[in-house]
Amino acid sequence: MTGEQNTNFDSLVRATAADGGVRCMAAVTTMLVAEAVSRHQTSPTVAAALGRTLTGALLLGAGLKELDRLTVQIVCDGPVGGITAEANARGQVRGYARNPAANSELNGNGKFDVSSVVGNGMFYVTHESGYEIGLYTDPYRGSVPIVSGEIGEDFAYYLAKSEQIPSAVTLGVYMRARPTGEMFVEAAGGLMIQVMPGADERIIEAVEDAIGRGPHTTTLIREGARPVDMLRAALGDLSFEVLEEKPVSFACTCSHERALSLISSIDRTELETILREDKGAAMTCHFCNETYRLDEAALEGILAMRS
Ligand code: ZN
Repeated sequence: MTGEQNTNFDSLVRATAADGGVRCMAAVTTMLVAEAVSRHQTSPTVAAALGRTLTGALLLGAGLKELDRLTVQIVCDGPVGGITAEANARGQVRGYARNPAANSELNGNGKFDVSSVVGNGMFYVTHESGYEIGLYTDPYRGSVPIVSGEIGEDFAYYLAKSEQIPSAVTLGVYMRARPTGEMFVEAAGGLMIQVMPGADERIIEAVEDAIGRGPHTTTLIREGARPVDMLRAALGDLSFEVLEEKPVSFACTCSHERALSLISSIDRTELETILREDKGAAMTCHFCNETYRLDEAALEGILAMRS
């Protein structure tokens, strides 16, 4: 990342309040949501849905340890068909929507009608550890039905029902039209306030009240607010202590080498057919929409190595 946008870089803050009884996370995710939207060529409504899910996964995964990863999966019957986001301990997230072009009219409040492209279904969260080094432990998976389809409320419902953590969650993506009419992500981000067992649950109401009365998250971000400013606005008089601030980004684990090893695992006859009929192979990564092309020479090389 370069320094030229140093007042507008993506980052996530983890903080604590009420003597550790309240966990607070806030993030500015404008650049990473813009990257996801441009990679997947999403409609504006799916941009909002995917951007909220990516941001929510980062916030939910804020306390992940090295080698942990967290996957949020929305399996739904609306036109978007499903959304997946995966975050790791390094503040990296990747994700996609099954039907990126699904769209809908603005809702009655003049906002993207995310719930209408999501529809009904299930909201899954999977915690895995050690996967990348082969020390795979049993994953933990929780699920709840989709209650709103606006994503933020679904994260809050998941935390309350599946993890018994009363939470306030707000996730937003603000898009604006260029003079050409093309939409772009001008601001994205969100926050998550979790009340641990034994702490005062009324904090949630106070936070929701403050969020409801104050400017929208993306308005704050457009005005230059950083994650800490967002927490200050949401927590009001409640003081908090910042534990960590780290950069967050869109990043995928795919690579040309991985595509090559995947192709190498195809059986010989099939590989010969691909070589003869298609003169090469192309593979596209679901998560980041990157396409890897292997030409005739590369396929011949794989076959030669085998004989
Ligand atoms: Zn990828």
